[in-house]
Amino acid sequence: MTTRIENATVWTPAESGEGYVEYSAVAFDQSGILAVGDEAMSHAAENVIDAQGAFVCPGFRDGHAHPIPGGFETLIAPVRGHATPQAIAAAVGTWARDHSDVEWIRGEGFDHTLAPGGIFHAAWLDAEVPDRPVVLRATDYHTVWVNSEALRRAGFTSTTPQPHDGEIVRDESGAPVGTLREWGAWRPVYDLLPPKTHDQVVASIATASEAFASTGVTWVQDAWVEPEDVDAWLTGLAAGVLDIRVDLGLWCDPNTWRDQLEHFLEARNRVVQHGEGLLSANTVKFFADGVLESATGAMLEPYCDCPHSKGLPNWDPEELALAVAAVDALGFDPHIHAIGDAAVRNALNAFETMLAANERRDRRMTIAHAQLVDAADLGRFSTLGVTANFEPYWAKYDEWQSELTAPRLGDERTNRQFMMRTILDSGANVSFGSDWPVTTQAPLEGIQVAVTRQMTDGPFREPWMPEERLTVEQALRAYTRSVAYQAGDPRGGVIAPGYGSDIVMIERDPRQVDPLEIGALKVLGTWRDGTAVFGPVRGEGHTGSS
Ligand SMILES: [Zn+2]
Repeated sequence: MTTRIENATVWTPAESGEGYVEYSAVAFDQSGILAVGDEAMSHAAENVIDAQGAFVCPGFRDGHAHPIPGGFETLIAPVRGHATPQAIAAAVGTWARDHSDVEWIRGEGFDHTLAPGGIFHAAWLDAEVPDRPVVLRATDYHTVWVNSEALRRAGFTSTTPQPHDGEIVRDESGAPVGTLREWGAWRPVYDLLPPKTHDQVVASIATASEAFASTGVTWVQDAWVEPEDVDAWLTGLAAGVLDIRVDLGLWCDPNTWRDQLEHFLEARNRVVQHGEGLLSANTVKFFADGVLESATGAMLEPYCDCPHSKGLPNWDPEELALAVAAVDALGFDPHIHAIGDAAVRNALNAFETMLAANERRDRRMTIAHAQLVDAADLGRFSTLGVTANFEPYWAKYDEWQSELTAPRLGDERTNRQFMMRTILDSGANVSFGSDWPVTTQAPLEGIQVAVTRQMTDGPFREPWMPEERLTVEQALRAYTRSVAYQAGDPRGGVIAPGYGSDIVMIERDPRQVDPLEIGALKVLGTWRDGTAVFGPVRGEGHTGSS
């Protein structure tokens, strides 16, 4: 079916170069964009939508997110949005009593800033759920809070050695308090969890797909896929609940990566065979470090509040370079989580080593988050051809910064985080993502922060590092064309004949509203490959062929 959207501001990055183009109409079908502007107006169409002045641009692409955990979160104990650790524990207790048949009580997305030093105690949960194990993961995805029964089942005692790739937080007597940092510490607990049921998998993917489509997102980089998740994605696809395209970023384990290579190839083959054009598995994901809020981000200089610690690199630098080169040689695009300035440098060095060692190919290299980049490394994204994937929603001074990050970084480092404008101006590809469910998946909310670097309420109302703000157009490009580049999709992120027909329609032109209101603009319709996957909710029903 051919659709024409008319009476719109159709905005697109230009096919080549840095410019932008605008039209008043676009015609498309499942095969792609057919015509723009006057040619679109004279193109036959079965479905004609009067946009009544709405804004139309390429479908948003999320360069770094976690869709299955985001969907799954809605099926387990509700731990998000509470004001105190006690309120979280109470909500978990209520949910546990309502689900007496569930043995392991799980929750995802609690606010890890609510307890001093980010240390949560098992006793707070024991008061609500003493007899069944409780496992809660924080919204940073690097901090886990468990009760005493979970510690007991995992065999954690005061004599358990610290893992090399995580931290079991202990009290003065050496007993684990209930906070586990990084997977080295929490994997022994997660290994005991029952696998997700078929129904849970399908419901998680349905929820995720709907969340993205309703906010204008047509393509997502899943940035953490374990072997069972490959099956989960294929299950969701077969159940018919997946409306967006997803690339699976296969998680690379620093301890076992040599043995994983075969699995990566097998997973890619299976996804190519059964993915029906909606799923691909072209990416391998590395964690170069943890996060700054829990002092696990890898730093060139020590943390201010912990002068003997430079954080926790997850990889030996030489080993990281070898693993990155090995997956690149198999045709996978490496995607490296790097938050601290030492992790960013290790990641850039790994790419540099890989480029020298491997044969030329049309590859993509991505560093996700790039929260703190040393001045000496800012220009290396451009020279090496590495995409800097930022989560724009994080680029504001809020409680995460004031409570958890700034005290650890000190003033000087605090005020050079998320330097997206500097890296963009250096000539590098800057792409956006959400890290959902860590933070909102709605691109317009992220674009608002990229453009303002400012909070709309609370104590911090000044733009933070205003010289790093982007224009609306730069932010739109970072959420469309630049993610298509990151993914190696030459047909993505542009509205022009021959390109794919991923389209989003937004109630107003985000360039013409107060920048602090961009995030509140409504998405009216989303088309993936020419098919409406959300809306449209304006001007529909007027069909004709003229
Ligand atoms: Zn992530």
